Amino acid sequence: HAEALAQVTLPAITRDGHRIEVAANIATQTDAADAVRQGADGVGLLRTEVLFLDREDPPSEAEQRAAYQGVIDALEGRAAIIRTLDAGGDKPLPFLPLPKEDNPALGLRGIRSGFAQPELLDTQLRALLGVTPIAACKIMLPMVSDAEELLFVRGRVDAIAKELKLTERPSLGVMIEVPSAALLADQLARHADFLSLGTNDLTQYTLAMDRCHPGFAEKLDGLHPAVLRLIARTVEGATRHGKWVGICGALASDLEAIPLLVGLGVTELSVSAGVVAEVKARVRTLDYEACRKQTLVLMNLTSPKEIRARARALWPDT
Ligand code: PEP
Ligand code: MG
Repeated sequence: HAEALAQVTLPAITRDGHRIEVAANIATQTDAADAVRQGADGVGLLRTEVLFLDREDPPSEAEQRAAYQGVIDALEGRAAIIRTLDAGGDKPLPFLPLPKEDNPALGLRGIRSGFAQPELLDTQLRALLGVTPIAACKIMLPMVSDAEELLFVRGRVDAIAKELKLTERPSLGVMIEVPSAALLADQLARHADFLSLGTNDLTQYTLAMDRCHPGFAEKLDGLHPAVLRLIARTVEGATRHGKWVGICGALASDLEAIPLLVGLGVTELSVSAGVVAEVKARVRTLDYEACRKQTLVLMNLTSPKEIRARARALWPDT
């Protein structure tokens, strides 16, 4: 068993020696243990929504802390990126009286619902700041549009940490899933510890196409040249401030997309635990320098269909 675990936990390194972290997207402590068994380097996205669903009252600070601590413990020394509540829009909560909106996807969702209910956000931050070791707990904010929003939450984290007499602060990062955030990546990266691309929403908002609309499936593709340019811009902005960029949207586990994501300079791919091994294997077939060069060319093609066809020819799926 120990030997098998050692085998799956080998890092994903390209043929020319460039390391890519492969982390897992999870929701529970059981998922965390499974992610370790499947060889994940850590957790790149813990969706905390499950804690808040199907109940009449919000979970208490103690209940939340126990859940987050359980995940950190199950990771045996690895780190977890824990996303604050991404409620609203298509994810309503019974105890949260949010007004009905004409355009929920453009309304009070993600961190915006935290601004509308500050005590809900504070309780979650307080629970997260109680986790030990604090270095293993990285906080990530969903649906951030600009640096002002990040700075507000950073202020809350500092105030709560002071109240709790903590000497250390957890890493605080933002999701890049709104085009404004990608365009402002340099400003966000100045104040954030890391950026993580939510390509499901970033694609929806960049193309102005509902992510669940069946009629748009072909075009609604993270390999659309517009999305690739926003990813490139995000990496550029982060690099300027020495910060790293991950991807926790579905694009990270798309075998055709991985060479381009590596080529764009993303350093972490966070995927379902079940495909961690496959994603690591894919990374090991690649040459980082070749990915960089080819991606610059592919970004100039005009449709995801063309980009995919060229990617398949350049990096056959073997
Ligand atoms: C995303 O938008 O890509 C993402 C990872 O968040 P979710 O799918 O939970 O909206
Ligand atoms: Mg999202």
